[in-house]
Parts: sequence; structure tokens; C-alpha cells
Amino acid sequence: MNYDFAIVGAGIAGASLAAELTDGGARVILLEAEDRPGYHATGRSAAFWDECYGGPEISPLTLASGPYLQDHGFLKQRGALYIGRRADARKVDAFLAEFGSTPVTIERLAGEELRRKVPGLREDWIHAIWEPGCADIDVAGLHQHYLSKGRANGAVLRCGAKVTSARRYAGKWTITSERTEAVAASVLVNAAGAWADTIAQIASVHPLGIEPLRRTVVQARTSPAPPLDMPLVLDIAGGFYFKPEAGKLWLSPHDEVPSKPGDVAAEEIAVAEAVDRLQQVVNWQVEAVERKWAGLRSFAPDRLPVYGYDPHVEGFAWFAGQGGYGIQTAPAAARLCAQMLLDNPRDAMTRSLDASIYAPDRFG
Ligand SMILES: Cc1cc2nc3c(=O)[nH]c(=O)nc-3n(C[C@H](O)[C@H](O)[C@H](O)COP(=O)(O)OP(=O)(O)OC[C@H]3O[C@@H](n4cnc5c(N)ncnc54)[C@H](O)[C@@H]3O)c2cc1C
Repeated sequence: MNYDFAIVGAGIAGASLAAELTDGGARVILLEAEDRPGYHATGRSAAFWDECYGGPEISPLTLASGPYLQDHGFLKQRGALYIGRRADARKVDAFLAEFGSTPVTIERLAGEELRRKVPGLREDWIHAIWEPGCADIDVAGLHQHYLSKGRANGAVLRCGAKVTSARRYAGKWTITSERTEAVAASVLVNAAGAWADTIAQIASVHPLGIEPLRRTVVQARTSPAPPLDMPLVLDIAGGFYFKPEAGKLWLSPHDEVPSKPGDVAAEEIAVAEAVDRLQQVVNWQVEAVERKWAGLRSFAPDRLPVYGYDPHVEGFAWFAGQGGYGIQTAPAAARLCAQMLLDNPRDAMTRSLDASIYAPDRFG
């Protein structure tokens, strides 16, 4: 069988793109190194959809993805609060200015209203921006949705298929993986998350400098337990976020530690930082750290994702560098990338997006 597209990686990026490409009639195979898809970044996220997260160049992808996520039942409204201390006043103003002219609904919040949303908030946290639209995402549900959609459209998923070589000859790739026979495809799509530059090297394509950064999340039992309807609370200075999850607290020190691609684990120092930062924000006791995990968020040098054909190597495409937003941007990102790869026109979901800022040729 000769495929139109062989996608390396079956996390949210590969799965969503396979669904969109097969919707457009393409023959697609997904090659996943692990025995099950979603083991790496996709299975380790903090599961939120935040219209502001990632800044004004990520926000259009998040907003364009919103209706699809909503219509398919993957969002549950929570709201987000970006909070700051007295010294953060300028950051709050800058945030309001940055998003004030975008379609995102945000407003300043202070005093009793702020303290009602986060009971036990310490006195020095006096600034806040309220973003009511922020929601929890059903990440596993979304990932399965795309895998099922791809399967129904004829996409083939091969797990335990770690790609080890890719050679192009006479307009076709021959791709070899561990434990499976070689695959022939016209286009090789790199959706390998933290391994994106490794896959480029395997295919003799110039890597883009996509760097995996470790991020830690802790599940803590606190006294009092966080209110179930408490918003996602983020430090406007970027030092933490936390949110309730089934009576427990999910908490991150917002760490970004450069790491080699691999199966990373939470380090004690990051866990301690997370707990310490929480205790500077609220007067709750952390009774136990019940779970902790870490994953790799992968960033191109300008921290924007990379979608589309490589400008130098024929038949090689990128769908990588999803950073910390690969779940919340998945519907619009996959639709846009599929339209670029199939040379199809834009539709209602993608028409407003500026694809040039995500194109691989921006790196020269
Ligand atoms: C702690 C944490 C919290 C996060 N929170 C959020 C959040 O709240 N909201 C949000 O939108 N995003 C969040 N993210 C980011 C999001 O998880 C990522 O952007 C997204 O999962 C990236 O998806 P991916 O498919 O590109 O990567 P991955 O899920 O890592 O998938 C890449 C796949 O490629 C496979 N692969 C690698 N090499 C090979 C090879 N040689 N052959 C075959 N297969 C290969 C890997 O096995 C892997 O399964 C978070 C990330 C982390 C780590």
C-alpha cells in the first residue's frame, strides 16, 4: 500500500491531523513509537482551554478551536483568574492592553469579588483579571474522538512503530520502523512532539531548533479542599497555576526546564517549588502530594507552532512545536495544516487565521 501521508507521532497533533487529512480523502498511516497513543505530552496536560494562554499569536488558534470543542462536548466552563501582587500592576495593565482589542472577554477584578472566587487568598494578592470563557478540556475524549474519526475514514494506526529511518527516492519516502514492515508514502509529516528535530534528522531535513521543556504538575490534598467551582488561578508573573480537580488541587510551578526528548518524571525540587508557591498565595494546608507528573512542552525558537511543508525538502511537512497549547488549539491547527498540505481552501474555522506566522519558511 502506498500512502499519501505517513504521520510520525499519534499524540493529539498526529491524531487530529490524520482525521482532517482523511476527511479530505487522503490515504494516511500514523506511526507511533509507543504501544499506545497519547503516552507523552498529550496524556500529561493540565487540561485547560484558556483564550489568553500563550499570547496574542496563539489566541486566534485557541478561539478558532472553541466552537468545535464546545459543539462536540469537550469543554466545561471554569473561568480563569490571572492574579498579581502590588508590584505586578504594570503586568496587569500590559495584559489588559494586549487582549483588550481582541475578541476575548476579560475584566479587572479586585476586593471582595476576587476573594469570593479564591477563598483564603493572601492579602498581598490585590490585582486580578477575570476571564470567564476559560474551560476544562476532556483531553482523553478529544484524542479518542480524532483517533476514531481517522479510523472511520480509513486511517491506519500502527503502534510500537518507532521510526528509525526515512529515505526519499523518486518522489516517495520509504519509512522503516522498529517491529513493523517498511511503509511507502508521498509525504512524511513530522508530528513527533519532543522528538520533532530527531525525526527531521532521521529524514535528512534541517532541524528547526524545537526544544522540549519540562513542565511539572502536582495533585495535592489540601485543607480546606478547593471549592469545586473555583477558577483556574494563574500568576500574572508566570510563577504558578492551580485549579480544582475532583476535590483535589492540580498545581504547577510553571517550570520550563530544557530536557532531552524522553519519558520525563517530576523532580522533587519542582514539586517543592509548586507547594511553596501555593502557600504564598492561599492560607490552605497541603496535607499530601498524592500524584505528580511531568511532560515535555516543545517550542520552536519563536515559541510559535510550525505547520506546513518544509521549504527545502520536497514531501516533508511539519506539524510540531505545539508548546503548552497543543490540546486547546488542536481543532483549528489540524484543520489549517490539512488545508495547507492538501492545498484546499480555507473554511469558516480557519479563514481568520494568518498561516504565514506558523509556516516553516519563517526560519529562512
Ligand atoms: C504538564 C503539561 C501541561 C500541559 N497543559 C496543557 C493544557 O492545559 N492545555 C493545552 O492545550 N496544552 C497543554 N499542554 C501541552 C500539550 O500537552 C502539548 O502541546 C500536546 O500534547 C502536544 O501534542 P503532540 O502530539 O505534538 O506531542 P505528543 O503527545 O508528545 O506526541 C508525540 C508522539 O510522537 C511519538 N514519537 C516520537 N518519536 C517517534 C518515532 N521515532 N517514531 C514514531 N513515533 C514517535 C511519541 O511517542 C509521541 O506519542 C501541557 C503539556 C504538559 C507537559
